Amino acid sequence: MGKKEEQLKFSTRAIHVGNSPDELTGAVVRPLHVASTFVQKTPGEWGPYDYTRSGNPTRDAAETTLASLEGGSGALAFATGMAATHCVTMLLSAGDHIVAGTDIYGGTYRLLHKICDRAGIGVSLANTSRPETLTAAIRPETKLIWIESPGNPLMSITDIAACAQIASSHGILLGVDNTFATPVLTQPLSLGADIVMHSATKYLGGHSDANGGMLVVNNDDLYDKLYFIHNSVGNCMSVWDSFLISRGIKTLELRVQEQCRSALRVAEYLQQHTKVKRVHYPGLVSHSGYDIATQQMNGGYGAMLSMEIDANFESTRKVVASTRLFQLAVSLGAVESLISQPASMSHASYDREDRISNGIHDELIRLSVGLEHVEDLIADLDQALGCL
Ligand SMILES: *Cc1c(COP(=O)(O)O)cnc(C)c1O
Repeated sequence: MGKKEEQLKFSTRAIHVGNSPDELTGAVVRPLHVASTFVQKTPGEWGPYDYTRSGNPTRDAAETTLASLEGGSGALAFATGMAATHCVTMLLSAGDHIVAGTDIYGGTYRLLHKICDRAGIGVSLANTSRPETLTAAIRPETKLIWIESPGNPLMSITDIAACAQIASSHGILLGVDNTFATPVLTQPLSLGADIVMHSATKYLGGHSDANGGMLVVNNDDLYDKLYFIHNSVGNCMSVWDSFLISRGIKTLELRVQEQCRSALRVAEYLQQHTKVKRVHYPGLVSHSGYDIATQQMNGGYGAMLSMEIDANFESTRKVVASTRLFQLAVSLGAVESLISQPASMSHASYDREDRISNGIHDELIRLSVGLEHVEDLIADLDQALGCL
């Protein structure tokens, strides 16, 4: 990014960096480049593009914008968030070891335990909201630390700067899944992380109509290593998804800020409800990560929250099935609000023992607060909890 662009504010960069008008027509929205291959002048004389798996102008636009928003020097766009995370794990070799947080995306847990272990890569989970637990889990062969903050589904807060210090003092890479926080609230590279990952399917796209994953780094050598894997394995983001995600990013800041405001109000409402035993939301003073979240998150505490209700497995299922605006579905981060039961949905791929011991109980309900009017959302939860 040029010096001038660096001085622009977030929402301006979200709209202009990577989105210059089309040179041929002046169109304010860049055309979609659907070509799979690009003409060469003479054999072996490469232009800026040669083959879409290796590079595509529409995909480049999304990568350039996100790199700017995360304060990185380069980004790579993948077909899904899981493809992006998998690419990071492919930096490792048999015999290496990963330490990941206990409160992480269910699909990441499955990737680490059921795919990486087949490649001979060891995995340990540690409660990363306590740095001393992380340090204790590090082995001589540990090459990667993988964290999420806020975590999923308990919204645990991990001190990214503290983890970065631990990682760098051991010569270990730190990867941060920044899907929940988005670069609007947290920019992990500025806190010392090496790699930022996004499921672009969530807030970046923001409309439940695109799939994608992103990696952002601030180190050319690391970028080259990841690009080599990206191009060799070929899990690239499609042109259509790249367009939709670029479009979504333009309104990211506005959406996230409004969703955070609503989420705080929903959390406050739930906290005083007699049928709700516990609300997990880092914006509540009662949350154990409140102080670190206040330092680390800029202008909001995210729009994801979860709660434990005074009910058994069956009545929990009834509650999640009886909201009308909160739709029963996995995924998150879009304009429409969603409700889920992690134990049977997003975290069903956990071994049950691990799930329970990590506090993901059957009575846990997770909410993704969207952009509907907050009073309608609270009324919807009120009627659903009324069935208990
Ligand atoms: C959804 C999600 C992923 C996986 O992304 P996909 O795009 O579904 O592959 C990873 N991490 C978090 C926190 C997620 O919410």
